[in-house]
Amino acid sequence: MLIVETFAIGPLKTNCYLYHNNTHAWIIDPGENSNFLTDLLFTKKLILKGILLTHGHFDHILGIKKLIKHYNDVEIMIHSLDADLIGEGGLKRLHSFLRQVDPALLEIVKEVEDDFPHPTHLLEDKEMIKGCDLLVLHTPGHTPGGVCFYSKKENILFSGDTLFKGTVGRSDLPGGNMEDLIDSIKRQLLFLPQGVIVYPGHGEKTTIGKELAYNPYLR
Ligand SMILES: [Zn+2]
Ligand SMILES: [Zn+2]
Repeated sequence: MLIVETFAIGPLKTNCYLYHNNTHAWIIDPGENSNFLTDLLFTKKLILKGILLTHGHFDHILGIKKLIKHYNDVEIMIHSLDADLIGEGGLKRLHSFLRQVDPALLEIVKEVEDDFPHPTHLLEDKEMIKGCDLLVLHTPGHTPGGVCFYSKKENILFSGDTLFKGTVGRSDLPGGNMEDLIDSIKRQLLFLPQGVIVYPGHGEKTTIGKELAYNPYLR
């Protein structure tokens, strides 16, 4: 039995999930450039085994740099098609994008820009992540390399910015595509059992059944 703990952190209140079995832990989307997560792991006496990224947007990755200071051999996992969004080059591209849309966010990204860690493991569709029983489901549309993480055993899905309670992720950012997004959700997520609990990248949790019934984008 693994435990899911949710923390809405960082400039966009991104859901960061601590997924653990009281000994080993995996962090999904560390979205804040602070010592919060390392302190949390230390207090709970958890050993960090992996940093899992649902996609490469800055609000889901800002915490990596601080985490790997303390856990320098931990795997940083992202889908190959989003890999170029992290690392220094990715943040530089983001820089020019944010300069146009939101200079306030630009300041936050600047803080972590130098020597931003590169991924150590590139995820592929249907890959099983060792130790935590999470299956990678490639769900392009919000970004080209967006993924969800599914555990059949725990009956849960980490859906990133692909599927939210009552809505879906935006598709107007670079690399986004609404048709792909809806297709990804229908093809990869809606066949899951209806009772699967969905933990999204922002906002409240939901279930596959509720989204099948009420999500206006999935009619
Ligand atoms: Zn995003
Ligand atoms: Zn997000």
